[in-house]
Amino acid sequence: MRWRASLEATCFASSQLPPEAAPEIAIAGRSNVGKSTLINTLLGTRLAHVGATPGKTRSINFYSVQCSVPFRLVDLPGYGYASRSKTERSEWSRLIASYVERRRTLCLICHLVDFRHGLLGNDRALQEWLGDCGKAILVVFTKADKIARGRHRTMLQHYVKEGLRSIDVPIVTSGENRAGIEELQAFIERFLSDSATGAQGHPDH
Ligand code: GDP
Repeated sequence: MRWRASLEATCFASSQLPPEAAPEIAIAGRSNVGKSTLINTLLGTRLAHVGATPGKTRSINFYSVQCSVPFRLVDLPGYGYASRSKTERSEWSRLIASYVERRRTLCLICHLVDFRHGLLGNDRALQEWLGDCGKAILVVFTKADKIARGRHRTMLQHYVKEGLRSIDVPIVTSGENRAGIEELQAFIERFLSDSATGAQGHPDH
């Protein structure tokens, strides 16, 4: 079933978060990792702003998605943009922390990681914090088209071996050639339907 989506809310402060309703799946990652591109490809729209000045998007955006199990896709602001001021950085962490730590309807965080680089220092810090909050993480690699197809398997095995938190085998995607997009959509729909029926998740990888 093709996904249909609309922008439901844009929040700059925790007081603006919409009331908890549908299950939420958040998308997080470093600035420039390809988050907006992936969101647009998943949703089949141009709702997210691609190529925005790195570090400029500080809002949390909620998209209402219609598919086999309706849910909200939550676009978290990118992190790791060096020239952002300390005050901005701490505002960013306050907003994210109040959302991630308190949101009962948040059931999964897709952690986007550039397939060329693997997990960098701040990606690992994010994983540790999310894990400590007890949130389920799925690693989703982006920009896979920049790596020769024949190397994908070995690279994926290498990253998994190096250690990462992910409730299932990471999904390797590209917004450029749509690789892995249907696989990710299917994973999300399955995850939502399993959560709705109370089925257990998978062990960490
Ligand atoms: P965001 O800052 O994480 O939202 O990243 P964007 O989606 O704005 O993408 C940052 C840059 O990477 C843009 O120039 C995109 O065109 C490019 N980009 C994003 N996804 C892909 C991809 O899958 N493949 C390639 N080759 N480039 C991508």
